[in-house]
Parts: sequence; C-alpha cells; structure tokens
Amino acid sequence: MPFPVAPYESCSFCLDLSGDRECAFVAENEFAAAEVNERQYEQGAMLIIPKNHRETILDMREHEVDAVDRLPKRMRMA
Ligand SMILES: [Zn+2]
Repeated sequence: MPFPVAPYESCSFCLDLSGDRECAFVAENEFAAAEVNERQYEQGAMLIIPKNHRETILDMREHEVDAVDRLPKRMRMA
C-alpha cells in the first residue's frame, strides 16, 4: 500500500554516492554500497544503501533488495 512521503530537497545518500558530500565507503556491490555511519562511527555502525535513489524501501526493486541484503553478510566476514 503506497503512503505519502514528505519530499526531500536533497538526499544525503545521493550526495554521498555522487561524491558531493564527504563519506567513507567500506564495501559495495553492483547495486548497493556500505558506508560508515558518521553519527555512530565509534560503534562501528554502517549504513547499507541502494546505489539508485529510492524514496522508501517499498520502491526498491527485487535485485536491489538482494544486493542490500548481501553486503552485511560479506562485511561480517571481514
Ligand atoms: Zn537518494
């Protein structure tokens, strides 16, 4: 069921992916990337994001969900 999402003037994840905002990527695959969570970096928290902008998780395509799901499995092996 679709639900309204407040429009964003800019997406911080897209700024990170484009290089317009400083961040630290630690892993990636074809459709997803993992970056250090700047608000919880001392705890080792990571953010896993799709490489294509999506307003909500409901907008993600199946192959993007699979790509996001695979990254933590790979990262825990490091
Ligand atoms: Zn975005």
